[in-house]
Amino acid sequence: MPEKKTKFIVITGSIMSGLGKGIVSSSIAKLLQARGFRVMPIKFDGYLNVDCGTMNPFRHGEVFVLDDGTEVDMDFGTYERFLNKSLPGMCSITGGKLFSKIIEKERKGEYLGRDVQFVPHLTGEIKDWVQKVGRDNNADVVMIEVGGTVGDLENGYFIEAMRQLHFEHNNMAFVQLTYVPSMSPGEQKTKPTQHATRLLQSLGIQPDIIIAREHEKLSEDSRKKLSLYCNVPEEAVFDDPLLHTVYELPLVLEKQGMYKQLAKRLGLPENREADLKEWHTKVGRIISPKDAPLKIAIVGKYTAVKDAYVSVKEALVHSAAAVNAGLEISWIEASDLEKVYDVAEVLSPYHGILVPGGFGDRGIEGKIKAIGYSRENKIPYLGLCLGVQLMVVEYARNVCGMKGANSTEFDKKTAFPVIDMLPEQQKITKMGATMRLGAYECILKKETVAHKAYKAEKISERHRHRYEVNPAFVPELEARGLIISGRHESGVVEIAEWKESFGVATQPHIELKSRLEEPAPIFVEFMKAAKSYREKPSKSAGADQGD
Ligand code: GLN
Repeated sequence: MPEKKTKFIVITGSIMSGLGKGIVSSSIAKLLQARGFRVMPIKFDGYLNVDCGTMNPFRHGEVFVLDDGTEVDMDFGTYERFLNKSLPGMCSITGGKLFSKIIEKERKGEYLGRDVQFVPHLTGEIKDWVQKVGRDNNADVVMIEVGGTVGDLENGYFIEAMRQLHFEHNNMAFVQLTYVPSMSPGEQKTKPTQHATRLLQSLGIQPDIIIAREHEKLSEDSRKKLSLYCNVPEEAVFDDPLLHTVYELPLVLEKQGMYKQLAKRLGLPENREADLKEWHTKVGRIISPKDAPLKIAIVGKYTAVKDAYVSVKEALVHSAAAVNAGLEISWIEASDLEKVYDVAEVLSPYHGILVPGGFGDRGIEGKIKAIGYSRENKIPYLGLCLGVQLMVVEYARNVCGMKGANSTEFDKKTAFPVIDMLPEQQKITKMGATMRLGAYECILKKETVAHKAYKAEKISERHRHRYEVNPAFVPELEARGLIISGRHESGVVEIAEWKESFGVATQPHIELKSRLEEPAPIFVEFMKAAKSYREKPSKSAGADQGD
């Protein structure tokens, strides 16, 4: 039996993908959370991969990692950034997880005597799962985002499970996100949405709310048509216009009365006020910051597909808002830097340089060049995961004189393997979910940037890597001035810093836990350093120089 009190909201997409369903889900969830409801998001992805860990960020965007080590779709980053809370892996339901579960049960003989079918077995599994998420997390509302679009073969059984759940408990609201194209300015077309809604209706689901994305404001005429032909009251047709920042969407939907429509459908108290004051202030700082933009260069490998670094980008947005400065990000393809004779030509305009995580050897030398340039010129540097490994390689080569130092990921025969595979990784042969994943604790050294940033002795951040700073080289690196400011209790180097100027790099992906309301502390220090570098380029403060 389901917990009576948990309500469900199901968000489906129509017409095409890429409409920002994750942002809409997160925004609606935020409006409920701001009224004191406990909200848990779920994402359903129809693909047969068990998780996102083996997917190429070029094709699929960033692989997001949760505290418990589950590798999930990048929409989870949006949920966490909006809700300012860490989610468990059970919130991610994939086709791969569902089918593995069913087949495992069948092999155990749990369906003995029956033929195992999509309906009722698979749909039953889904219904149990979403209700368990509600129960285990004591949720008032579970917000379910259905990946893909209505009509896709791969999410059909999921939509059927939602229809059944609604029929059985009548405690759901269905929200359909759609796109209203304009043939020419002022000529909005609602027909695609009419057909898409008919498709949803043919699956037994009547949307309660329609949210329309378009390039110009939804016209009154379009609203009326969507209402009449899709069976949705006019006040339940919402406009999702082009916005300056995604964080504005909760405020935009709030203004249009989203909560009232949901409350009506779900039987929630209609006049509960939302506390969005803090959110409002932060959004205001993103839209019109007090200070001029800080120019940050991200030197990466997948820069053509910005979704590959979405958490890095968002962490920069949060930390720029924290220091009340504008932000201008430039994406620099690392392999292009390898061909440039003088990197100053490319990198000198920036107030900060960032090297994010990555795998594979393309662009590695370009990234090392960028790090060396920022160390020598005292431009603030922030490194994430691969960014700390390459910071160490650069330091070993150019400060410690270890010619040809490298990571064994890129050069198996290097004379100075300053980065090497984690011992527990050596025997692993399977690729899925086998990295050092999820939250690990890190002990911080006093009087370092990291310690000052976190104001704590012990922190916890999320990981996704197979290599580490080789412990055999740490004494020498330290003797030559590299500061190891964070370590796991096992000895794994978690954070390193330069002494002479601001350069901090972390083995964990600290960007993953950055939120608008609680930006990643080291990102904030990076922004402060970028700000002072902009004012006085020669004085970017390092770990031993305080503020
Ligand atoms: N390729 C490196 C490793 O596996 C870095 C990984 C990353 O940046 N996420 O350790």
